[in-house]
Amino acid sequence: MNICFEQGPIRPPSEAASLLIRVTRNCPWNKCTFCHTYRGTKFELRNVEEVKADIQAMKDIADQIAELSWKLGEGGRVNRNVMKQISNDRLYNDYFQTVAVWLYFGGENAFLQDANSLIAKTPDLVAILHFLREKFSQIKRITTYCRSHTAARKTVSEFEQLKKAGLSRIHVGMESGSDDVLALINKGVKASDHIKAGQNIRQSGIELSEYYMPGLGGAKYSIQHALETARVMNAINPDFIRLRTLHVVPGTELEDLVKSGEFQSLGDEDILKEIELFIENLEVKGSHLVSDHILNLMEELEGTFPEDKSKILHLIKRYFDLSDEERLIFRLGRRSGSLRMLNDLDDKEIFSRLKAVVDKYTADGGNLEEDIDKIMNNYI
Ligand code: SF4
Repeated sequence: MNICFEQGPIRPPSEAASLLIRVTRNCPWNKCTFCHTYRGTKFELRNVEEVKADIQAMKDIADQIAELSWKLGEGGRVNRNVMKQISNDRLYNDYFQTVAVWLYFGGENAFLQDANSLIAKTPDLVAILHFLREKFSQIKRITTYCRSHTAARKTVSEFEQLKKAGLSRIHVGMESGSDDVLALINKGVKASDHIKAGQNIRQSGIELSEYYMPGLGGAKYSIQHALETARVMNAINPDFIRLRTLHVVPGTELEDLVKSGEFQSLGDEDILKEIELFIENLEVKGSHLVSDHILNLMEELEGTFPEDKSKILHLIKRYFDLSDEERLIFRLGRRSGSLRMLNDLDDKEIFSRLKAVVDKYTADGGNLEEDIDKIMNNYI
């Protein structure tokens, strides 16, 4: 079974169940000081025929999986029995596993890769979207990443064509609405580009998901970062606002700035205070705040504005109302994957297990903060 296709390295957390279609390779900018994802790689546009061949290969595999399902008496469905057969039979390679897993989890969403797919020509993207929708008519949502630099230069009419061809949602890494922070991280755009880009997308009717990176201004710009990002979000009013906390990645230019003392990183709690300030200043209407990244301390900061604003702020207050020891236990539990929400602290067994670890560090004089930081390195 010599069928294969190409896929890139990343997608947003919310696209975990999406079929990944590689429209471009790597990042055309590749200069943000905090980002390591595409370092050492060269950006390439893929031609439409190449991308269509990948989609056709996925379709051929999906057809063979459906055939297998019928043979197994499962009526074309991809269930545990079909998955077991695909996992156990060496006849089915990794490409089959990828498509089978996608179908098993519903087979309804697709994500166009890599970092800035919309830099491709609009007619090419339209052709790819049509082909994808034609081959997989069950797809309900197609999403992609786009840099504000690109989206600010595409016209509303181009976005409308993409929407008509089936593009449902665009994820934009705003990171910050502060020009000082954007310059510091070499994002290659200004706040005004973010606003223009966001408004172009919103005007076309395509859903927009904007990412804010708490902590990215370091100690120096924390307040400005929160206030300016809230201002830019308010001007765009995106459908989704996603939190993706900064963790300085070893080997990046940002790490060099940390080492030289030019960038002073914030700890978990100062970052949470920054998020609190950001939320206090959000005046969006109908935007949904999501905290779905593993690097965020509080996953439960989720809700629609303005109605859930006070509920979200109350959750942050609840965290700060905990004792010093409880907060440390929560942070350790969250970072080690033992708990997710504040309410999980009520689980006596988990709580005492985590408390025992904290007590041991205290007794031995160990550096728990350093070890929590090391755990976070595994999440990037
Ligand atoms: S635009 Fe995105 S992928 Fe490219 S360097 Fe910046 S953060 Fe990384």
